[in-house]
Amino acid sequence: MDEQSALVLFSGGQDSTTCLAWALDRFERVETVGFDYRQRNRVELEARPKLRAAIAAAFPHWRRRLGEDHVLDLAALAEISDSAMTRDVAIAARADGLPNTFVPGRNLVFLTFAAALAYRRGARRLVAGMCETDYSGYPDCRDDAIKAMQVALNLGMATRLVVETPLMWIDKAATWRLARDLGGETLVDIVREVTHTCYEGDRSRRHEWGFGCGHCPACALRAAGYAAFRAAG
Ligand code: ZN
Repeated sequence: MDEQSALVLFSGGQDSTTCLAWALDRFERVETVGFDYRQRNRVELEARPKLRAAIAAAFPHWRRRLGEDHVLDLAALAEISDSAMTRDVAIAARADGLPNTFVPGRNLVFLTFAAALAYRRGARRLVAGMCETDYSGYPDCRDDAIKAMQVALNLGMATRLVVETPLMWIDKAATWRLARDLGGETLVDIVREVTHTCYEGDRSRRHEWGFGCGHCPACALRAAGYAAFRAAG
């Protein structure tokens, strides 16, 4: 396992893009992995190569570190889950309080596949954007779930993988700030213009925080975080 090699779970959203920059800032070799689980936001998947290209063009010292991209087909997730993330139904709160965008066990599946890929690629670190601070209530974003996964993966594969979650204890405003600390306003602009967060997949409406419908829970969180980030200066 290469101590200086990392695999970033890279969806094409704001959080995973910030994680990619975080990894490029620290590790000598950084690869990315994305998952196609028939998510309704195809635009997010389409943003991935554009983001990698934009980051490589703007940051030559990171371009040297940026390695292969992998996209894994996880269509089975859509088959077994009944979620607004993979079906064309309105986004709403469920009776138990969880948003109906919840895909049960999604992050556990992602981490398992990413770990198997990291094993093959010799990467010691998995970098993922899970966040417990202003998460939408998804239980598999919580720190304990991720740490338990790290233990299970290492026991099950006889490895010493480290699951890095740089956003775990920060809020959305601090995620914008982290992007600026890592790559200045250039990176903030790339995150604003190219990343996709909106559950509705809307790229037709542009706001100061980027593109999106402006009213879904993902847009609301992103907009509020951006406003707080700018208000803090
Ligand atoms: Zn939206």
